[in-house]
Amino acid sequence: MLELLSQLRLQALATQLPALLEEARVQQWSYEAFLQRVLTVERDGRQQRALERRCRAARLPLTARLETFDFSFQPSLSERLIHELAGLSFLQTATNVVLLGPPGVGKTHLACGLALKALEGGQSVLFTSLRELAGRLADRSERPDLVLRRYSQPKVLIIDEVGYTRLSQEQSQALFELVTMRYERSSIILTSNLSFAEWGALLGDDVLATALLDRLLHHAEIISINGRSYRMRQRMAADQSRAA
Ligand code: ADP
Ligand code: MG
Repeated sequence: MLELLSQLRLQALATQLPALLEEARVQQWSYEAFLQRVLTVERDGRQQRALERRCRAARLPLTARLETFDFSFQPSLSERLIHELAGLSFLQTATNVVLLGPPGVGKTHLACGLALKALEGGQSVLFTSLRELAGRLADRSERPDLVLRRYSQPKVLIIDEVGYTRLSQEQSQALFELVTMRYERSSIILTSNLSFAEWGALLGDDVLATALLDRLLHHAEIISINGRSYRMRQRMAADQSRAA
């Protein structure tokens, strides 16, 4: 029997069948009820493995959930808006999400929390920082079309920490191309400590920056978080408890 299950690649059943058979005997399940359970177990196992595969491919740096985000610490942030985004309808309309604010206010946490919702909703996600993305886009050892494809394919692309890396002309052009490829097709979640006025300096080209922002922001939810750093709060709490 195990041999058959393995040939048919019924992995979840292969581990759970003995327990299911035992339960069926004790509970005297009907044939229909038994078959229903067997198929459900295999389907759930497959869905779980697919979710784990998507999670690994997403390369999230934090497993930060929206449920653990303390909204009371960031009163400038609309909890209602984040919950609405968590419903994922923004993916249907290829709307972008731009999270702005100083370090430590939870931009990466929120981006990863939304990404987890998308992954659980069956969507593909890829996380990258602008530094990593720019490096890949200008890497001469890789085929540019394949690099662009890698970043244009996932349903959600997170570009984190826009602002800490100045881009070369070539990198700026490639980033523009990527934003254009995804425009009105699939969402970008972007985090930045910069104001939009500073993008000209970031890309080294005001005209290109205007064109890029035009596409990025045409269908976008812009969320500015003007609050205190959660990292500093944790730090201060630790210092206080040490002093006491
Ligand atoms: P940013 O990306 O804005 O610099 P992060 O999202 O990396 O900030 O947040 C820094 C750390 O603080 C992370 O570990 C994050 O999970 C945590 N954090 C930030 N804001 C909150 C919050 N409001 N509630 C709970 N944890 C938070
Ligand atoms: Mg961050």
